[in-house]
Amino acid sequence: MRRWAILQGKEDNLIKDLKETTLSFKKLGERYGVSRQAVHAFFKRRGIKRLKRPGGHQTEGCRLCQKLIQISKKRHSEFISIQTIVKETGGSASKCISHLRTLRDKGLISVRFGRLHSKRLEEAYAIYFNKRLPISTIGRKVGITNFCSIMRKHRKLGYDVPPPLYVYDGKERSRILSEIHRRKQQ
Ligand SMILES: [Zn+2]
Repeated sequence: MRRWAILQGKEDNLIKDLKETTLSFKKLGERYGVSRQAVHAFFKRRGIKRLKRPGGHQTEGCRLCQKLIQISKKRHSEFISIQTIVKETGGSASKCISHLRTLRDKGLISVRFGRLHSKRLEEAYAIYFNKRLPISTIGRKVGITNFCSIMRKHRKLGYDVPPPLYVYDGKERSRILSEIHRRKQQ
């Protein structure tokens, strides 16, 4: 079901709640039977201004938030795994995740930052960005068999995946195409 469908007919109430209360997106999601993300997307789409939560998290004065913002400004930061982020901040995973959520809600970091949950994938991407190697070779190196399809999925989700440094020549290309063809027929 499309997520807006559930909200249909309740939009006015939700707009009112968003404008006049300081309830979190999570709480509002529970109230309206949709996910926190759906409420957030709705809020963004409508450009609603919210009241400042008294005692809401002050990211400017929070060392963890500032450190997270700093890491998020690195090149290809969307491909840094959450494990590495946690390690770099020196904090606990649950703390990091909750501060990341606040920063995302405030639009201070990319919505995709801190979403990668695989150290192996982080490693694969690091090689991909820096070395002139075929994607299949990178996958083999780090032990990921479907790196190519994961990359495709990430592209679709809006991750900024640059074209490969490795240039496939005509021979290599036709070898790959026939390999794909062969696999499809199996
Ligand atoms: Zn913080």
